[in-house]
Amino acid sequence: MAARPDLLQRLAVQTDGRAQTQLYRRLRTVTRAEGPFVESNGKRLLVFCSNDYLGLAQDPRLIAAWKQAADSSGVGSGSAHLICGHRREHAELEEVLAEWTGRERALLFSTGYMANLGVMQALLQRGELCVQDKLNHACLLDGAQLAGAVLKRYPHTDVESAERQLRSHDETCALLATDGVFSMDGDIAPLRELAALCARENATLMVDDAHGLGVLGDDGAGSVMEAGLSEREVPVLMATLGKALGCSGAFVAGPTALIEGLIQFARTYIYTTAMPPALAAATRCAVTLARTENWRREKLQVLIRRFRHGAEQLGLPLMPSRTAIQPLLLGDAQAALDASRILEAQGLLAVAIRPPTVPQGQARLRITLSAAHEEAHIDRLLDALASLRLAGAPV
Ligand code: PMP
Repeated sequence: MAARPDLLQRLAVQTDGRAQTQLYRRLRTVTRAEGPFVESNGKRLLVFCSNDYLGLAQDPRLIAAWKQAADSSGVGSGSAHLICGHRREHAELEEVLAEWTGRERALLFSTGYMANLGVMQALLQRGELCVQDKLNHACLLDGAQLAGAVLKRYPHTDVESAERQLRSHDETCALLATDGVFSMDGDIAPLRELAALCARENATLMVDDAHGLGVLGDDGAGSVMEAGLSEREVPVLMATLGKALGCSGAFVAGPTALIEGLIQFARTYIYTTAMPPALAAATRCAVTLARTENWRREKLQVLIRRFRHGAEQLGLPLMPSRTAIQPLLLGDAQAALDASRILEAQGLLAVAIRPPTVPQGQARLRITLSAAHEEAHIDRLLDALASLRLAGAPV
């Protein structure tokens, strides 16, 4: 018999290897969540790392919508959308998402990760070009690889490099994909310039607005609507439902030709169970609240300004962001872990983000703010960050 190596043994060796570094990941169990607080390991912690930017995840109206739909539709959808899992709740949510984002149609996916894989695999054929910002979310990169596309990554927000990459392959179909708001840095892509570039180069523009939807734009319709870009300019818009909307899942919005094509060819749409209908009902309620309760966006902006002002006064290494994501760059993984531990000892939760999630040497505290926070919470955070500096952290 061949001396075939054992896969699980090899994985265990890799895991042991990682355990010797500062990159080992550990799960934390949250036993209770209440507003911006969680309870974990018997301790109450004020959270600064959740993506619940508008503070909707525990809104009683969402919970009531969930319960009511569960009473009438049950828990599981029972099958994929194309079998018998596509319920009235899904159809209604798709309609409001399309209307909100100013697109012809919208299509639900069970997660954002699956939406991005499905779009790339349906749109791109082997050997075609996919140009992406270097800091795009992992699932956009994975999607291009799954599709067998030629993946070119341009330096962060560098439109001229993107142009050179498109021109280097001007004979094939091309998709240019970018995060709208970058998940680890919080800055916004140069969407108008990218749209103009795609128009000149006959490339299709895709924007992943996971962190912009709900937060940017007058009624929270996201970075693409804030930039005033139509469906013609950004034909593929994807966003998630598990962040500012406080729910879970994702959608792709665009022209009918895109949506019908995804229904035919996107394998992560076709071969998976439709999200629970009660989740779709709760999400529809979240969309209504996100659109109409402007005070949430306004409060978030007040908190962002308060945090940035305080952090500037402390001389902390802020990044250029006007969104809910306000990272503090610390450099090495150990420094980020130490900072996170010091904050936790003071009752604050902001986990260390380390490579490969961020580039080598750019470990950070990815601090996120939410409309669920109060000004006093921001002041507590600033006090804790000031103590970090006293403790000698590289902030
Ligand atoms: N895109 C971006 C930009 C994200 O930040 C994330 C998740 N953090 C996703 C896609 C994946 O979304 P989901 O969590 O719904 O799979």
